Amino acid sequence: MDYVQTGKDNFMHTYAQLDVCFDHGKGCWLYDTEGKKYLDLVGGIAVNALGYGNEKLISTSEKVMKEGIFHISNLYYNKYTVIAAERLNKAAQSDRVFFANSGAEANEAALKLSRKYGFVTGRTKVLSFEHSFHGRTYGAITLTGQEKYHKGFAPMVPDIEYATYNDLDSVKAKLDDSFIAIIVEPVQGEGGIIPANKEFLEGLRKICDEKDMLLIYDCVQCGMGRIGKLFAWQHYGVKPDLMSTAKAQGGGLPLSALCGYGKASGVFSPGDHASTFGGNPVAYALAIAALD
Ligand SMILES: *Cc1c(COP(=O)(O)O)cnc(C)c1O
Repeated sequence: MDYVQTGKDNFMHTYAQLDVCFDHGKGCWLYDTEGKKYLDLVGGIAVNALGYGNEKLISTSEKVMKEGIFHISNLYYNKYTVIAAERLNKAAQSDRVFFANSGAEANEAALKLSRKYGFVTGRTKVLSFEHSFHGRTYGAITLTGQEKYHKGFAPMVPDIEYATYNDLDSVKAKLDDSFIAIIVEPVQGEGGIIPANKEFLEGLRKICDEKDMLLIYDCVQCGMGRIGKLFAWQHYGVKPDLMSTAKAQGGGLPLSALCGYGKASGVFSPGDHASTFGGNPVAYALAIAALD
């Protein structure tokens, strides 16, 4: 089979794909269907933090899949998701987690949670930053402060505005009493690998405390040890109210989490939010192995 041509003929053309079809991998090496070897400098786009063919991930997934529960609904507990939740809360210094499947979905949960937090006081607006990236679903792409991703898709989700990264004055100029949350990447990834200044994150924390707003960190790309500490904000010692994490969290399987701190961890009630596959036992067994 000509996989490349068959792919071209059958996928929607959302990606400018290279003419190569990969077959297997080991460490940082990938092999295509013709046996040609490639040094992978992409890492699955910040996902394959442990490389390909990691023995612990393979033995863990084999063990869990043999137990036969590939999926179980969130109407019940399963041991892997429970352990993963406890482990993640400990590692992220958070209190409660919501498990989902992708970075965008974790950010959607943060957006919904923020709006619910603001509901009693009628505050709906969320402040994001220019050159940020938060994912491709409607809420997440609206949070993304890059016009090129909005072009052709209007109308976007209402009540989301943008300030300048690392510029507290631009934040203060935007804010009024209709805002409920600020979302920021502690290190902007897609925007060009731009770290936040310490004073900037401290300033955002102070503003959120004074105005009873939620500070949301998107650690989807700058999390899971990618810049030294497990989550980028831990270099700064400035805690958020919510943090999204995904990409490398499952060592390659699709999963994500929204971590809640303090008051923000108790906002959702039963029925407010859900995800069929969020908290999948196989994925979260691998999340535990990846954390190990
Ligand atoms: C990749 C990325 C996302 C979106 O994650 P998906 O899993 O593709 O939905 C969100 N935020 C940041 C900072 C990212 O790098």
